[in-house]
Amino acid sequence: MDKILELKQIVKIYGEQTKNPYKALHEIDLSIQKHSFNAIIGQSGSGKSTMLNIIGTLDKPTQGQVMFNGIDISSYTKEQLAEFRNRRIGFIFQFHYLLPEFTAIENVLMPYRISKQPLTDSVIQRAKDLLETVGLTNYINTPSINLSGGQQQRVAIARSLINLPDMVLADEPTGNLDSDTTENVYQLLREINAKFKTTFIIIT
Ligand code: ADP
Ligand code: MG
Repeated sequence: MDKILELKQIVKIYGEQTKNPYKALHEIDLSIQKHSFNAIIGQSGSGKSTMLNIIGTLDKPTQGQVMFNGIDISSYTKEQLAEFRNRRIGFIFQFHYLLPEFTAIENVLMPYRISKQPLTDSVIQRAKDLLETVGLTNYINTPSINLSGGQQQRVAIARSLINLPDMVLADEPTGNLDSDTTENVYQLLREINAKFKTTFIIIT
């Protein structure tokens, strides 16, 4: 089986230059197979978000290597990293950070707009298809502020997929949803994993 991601001896120390440095990650090794669906479970404060932020290139490790498809991404420039993150990785957060005044489809298209590619009929169709996949066909043009919490998280899931990422990272994506909605969201993520072969790493 092919690996999409490998962490090698990752160490993260916060406040390294301060009197009270804190070692949040201790020589972490992790390997993730392509197309796999992974859940990471751990106590609060155990370093889950720290690790996911490093995987998502939102933060840098103090030591160690992050290999993506066999390439050490620490060699990337800032610009290369930004493009890599935008094109190859999708993010779903606990608080979905939708733009409230924008419609569902405008929010879904946002990572695509950021990539500065021209809007085409095919990407608009992809956004509509993704909204259909997450069960929001009737809400395409609804401002996200008028959607329920569960519906907003579904928009965020569709948004994470618009650039057809290789990997989606989700940090407690159902943390502020009720238990029925939570079950639906996980069901949906599993369906997307099966349909698009997107690799998932989910903190639960
Ligand atoms: P989890 O997501 O598992 O709850 P985190 O990765 O958020 O854990 O945090 C791991 C540890 O690192 C915690 O003790 C937290 O207080 C500490 N930590 C997280 N972010 C920072 C930061 N920016 N500066 C200093 N300490 C931090
Ligand atoms: Mg966390």
